[in-house]
This record gives sequence, structure tokens and C-alpha cells, in this order.
Amino acid sequence: KTNKTVSLDSLSNYIETLETPPADEDCCICCEKLIEASGHSSDTVDDHVVYKLDKCSHMFHKLCLTAMYDSGAKDGHLQCPTCKTIYGEKVGNCPKGELEYKFIDTQLPGYEDCQTIQIIYNIHGGTQGPEHPHPGKRFTARGFPRIGYLPDCDKGRKVLQLLLVAWKRRLTFTIGSSTTTGEDNTVTWNEIHHKTELGSNYSGHGYPDPNYLDNVLLELAVHGITEKDLPS
Ligand code: NAD
Ligand code: ZN
Ligand code: ZN
Repeated sequence: KTNKTVSLDSLSNYIETLETPPADEDCCICCEKLIEASGHSSDTVDDHVVYKLDKCSHMFHKLCLTAMYDSGAKDGHLQCPTCKTIYGEKVGNCPKGELEYKFIDTQLPGYEDCQTIQIIYNIHGGTQGPEHPHPGKRFTARGFPRIGYLPDCDKGRKVLQLLLVAWKRRLTFTIGSSTTTGEDNTVTWNEIHHKTELGSNYSGHGYPDPNYLDNVLLELAVHGITEKDLPS
């Protein structure tokens, strides 16, 4: 794989190197004591270096935390394996495109007392970059523009703002194989569900769905996008 990746060094703002780790605590990645050498030890000067994460204060061997990060997507974010706190910003590989949204004068089933937000995504096919599964190879973009709908209520407007953050961080779509069509090297939704039907629900991606706004908020949080990312 020649995918472009971001090293753990990019998260150094969040990491403190401990001179004297506590004698009685374990590294929960390798289960060895923090004062002993890392279970990922490779007889280097770094064997005994201990890192502390600055928000949650959890501690790990440098080599253990590095190995854990490197075995993941290396997308510029780290999740504490002990408490799940997220450090840094997860960035995706959504191809370039356009996002536009407007308020339309219609009611979604289940949201009869407010108007509707329409989000329009447009992406065109092209050539895959170094961050994609097959760099240099073509990719297709089917069914664009794709349109999502949200109720224009407080929670719906909050979801809209978070979806704009997801788009900016290139997390809305990705390139891969479509489960709907089986086609490979094509643009697909990326685990942030959108309601693409306006007044009907033939696909299961329509209204009514009283849990949708809460579900998509959870999906956004999995990508590290929460209210903390919005201007107050
Ligand atoms: P996919 O089938 O690989 O699935 C990825 C995610 O998208 C899954 O989480 C799935 O639940 C969700 N999803 C599937 N169908 C959806 C829909 N209609 N609306 C909202 N979310 C949906 O994803 P994909 O390849 O991006 O395909 C999803 C949808 O894309 C298709 O149902 C269709 O609307 C559109 N599409 C259109 C064409 C076309 O030629 N018109 C071709 C391919 C895909
Ligand atoms: Zn360890
Ligand atoms: Zn933690």
C-alpha cells in the first residue's frame, strides 16, 4: 500500500513524555509495568519511554502507543484505548466536490411542524490520489448529485452544522466498493447516514424515523465530530 499517512508525531501537542512513570501502574496496551520495558520492545533507547495523554492522563509505553497508532488508519487521530477520548482530527479521503444546502418549504413525515433542509452533494469521477485504495486508477461517481434531507428544527440544524464539518474533513464519502451495486473503485457513503428520500421511505433511507437525528449524531461522534467542533 502506498497510501499517504500521518504519523503519531502530528499529535505531539497532546502527548507528554514522562520522566518518572508511577511504579505501580501497567501499560494497558502490553500489560507490562510502565517502569519495565515495553512489550513492543525492540532493544532501542525508546524501550522505557512513557507517554501520557494530556486530556485523560492515561499512560502507555511510547512504543506501545506508536505500534497501536501505526496499526490503525494513520489518519491523524488517536483514540485512548483506555477511555476512548479522541485526540486530533480524523481526516478522510472523500474526493473533491461541491456541497450546497438550502431550506425548502415542505414537511418531512414525522416533522410536520417545521420546514426542511436539503443538502446537495456533487462529486465527479476522476483519478485516485495517494490517499485512495488504488492510486492512479480511475474512480466513478454514481447517482450524483446525491441529496440528503433534515428537519429544520434545532437538532436538525445542529446536525447540518456537524455534516458541514464532516465534509470539510473529507469524511462524508470515500472510495471503495459499493454494497448496493458491487462496483469497485467508486464513491460510496462513509458511515454517516443521510436520509435521501423526501416524502417516502422505500429504501429505508427516508422518514419517518424518530431515531435518525440521534443515530447520525452518534455516527458523527465516532468520526470525532461533536458539538465541541461548532463555533459557540
Ligand atoms: P453502499 O451501497 O456501499 O452503502 C454505503 C452506505 O450507504 C451504507 O451505510 C448504506 O446504508 C448507505 N446507503 C445505501 N443506500 C442508500 C441510500 N439510497 N440513501 C442513503 N444511504 C444509503 O453506498 P453507495 O454505493 O454510496 O450507494 C448508496 C446509494 O447511492 C444508492 O442507493 C443510490 O441512491 C446511490 N447510487 C446511485 C447510482 C445510480 O447510478 N443512480 C449508482 C450507485 C449508487
Ligand atoms: Zn506497553
Ligand atoms: Zn484515556
